[in-house]
Amino acid sequence: MDAGNDHSSNITRRDFVKTSSALAVMATLGEALVEHSQVALAQTSDNGEGPRVQTVLGPISPEDLGVTLMHEHAPVIDWSELYGHPIAPIEGAFRQQVIDQAASGLQAFHNQLDGWAKSGTIVEVTPIRVGRYPDLIVDMARKSPVHVVGCTGFWGEALAPMHLWAAAMLVQPNGIEQVTQLYVKEITEGMEDPYGEPGAGFTDVKAGIIKIATSTYLTALERHANTAAGLACIETGCPISVHTTDGGGLEMAQLLLSLGVSPQKIIIGHQGYKDDRENVRATDYHKQLADLGVWVQFDRIGYPNYPVEDRAEYIRPLLDAGYEDQLLLSHDTVPYFYRTFWQEEKRESDWWLFKEDPWTLILSEVVPKLNEAGITKRVVSKILIDNPKKVLAF
Ligand SMILES: [Zn+2]
Repeated sequence: MDAGNDHSSNITRRDFVKTSSALAVMATLGEALVEHSQVALAQTSDNGEGPRVQTVLGPISPEDLGVTLMHEHAPVIDWSELYGHPIAPIEGAFRQQVIDQAASGLQAFHNQLDGWAKSGTIVEVTPIRVGRYPDLIVDMARKSPVHVVGCTGFWGEALAPMHLWAAAMLVQPNGIEQVTQLYVKEITEGMEDPYGEPGAGFTDVKAGIIKIATSTYLTALERHANTAAGLACIETGCPISVHTTDGGGLEMAQLLLSLGVSPQKIIIGHQGYKDDRENVRATDYHKQLADLGVWVQFDRIGYPNYPVEDRAEYIRPLLDAGYEDQLLLSHDTVPYFYRTFWQEEKRESDWWLFKEDPWTLILSEVVPKLNEAGITKRVVSKILIDNPKKVLAF
């Protein structure tokens, strides 16, 4: 999700320098996590039913996913903590409004599924402490027939500073191990509770995907965080979804592959604009990615640089080259975004209803355009239903 704000360049990493005592506390928390997780190191259990998809309401059969939107956010995004500020309030009647609005968005997507399959699924990839509220996500999912897969993983440094909690762990000598074990814990036991001090409490809502990010060029902290994601993937089988920033996808695929991560667990996202850092349309680059065996995900369809009209021209060459088994689609949108995240003071009125109906464009407009371009319903079904089944089950 990129709401088009660019305040990051104006804001320094002052908190990182200012809060050495907080760093010490967080490092201690990290050590506690390492101890705790040593008990919890385990593959997600195979109970004889084969691989399952881990939704926020529990594991389901991959057959039950139906049309799956692979990179979405729900019900909110709030970057406040990345700037050292308190989170924006979501309480009382407004909390209910947020859940109802998101559930109604999911219902609108569900209403489009006639002639497709089952209930439909969204993969919620809001990173740790960027507005990822397990209680809100669960309440929204309970109100909707659409399945919701939640995520673990820290965001990168391209659009905002990395969360201080992540940075504090990653600069420790055993930082990669600490973050690996946090991710494993969130996948096997439950996501961290975002309302208390970082790492102080955990929910029982398990993550079903790992979200990571690279700046246009991978930074040192991102390299460490993303190495941890690779190790957590190897340990649990949980797939990895990569945010790229006008480039970086190929290097991320190479980094994860060098750790021994299976290419079928690696989704290179945000493709469809300047992916090789230079060319608006980078078809050869997409083929290079696909040649590595990883998933190529066009997940910002509908954004200004990612218009519906020409998406088929990005997808078609990959289909012609035989890569229909490695493509995924999504919108990367969200119902509510907190717009004054860089300000200390937080007000309910600064929540912005970013998209009233975030999850319908693909079935209403993109699929007809793909069909017009000669891409058959069989191939579209593969991209929207069969491919997500393969990548999400572990
Ligand atoms: Zn996103």
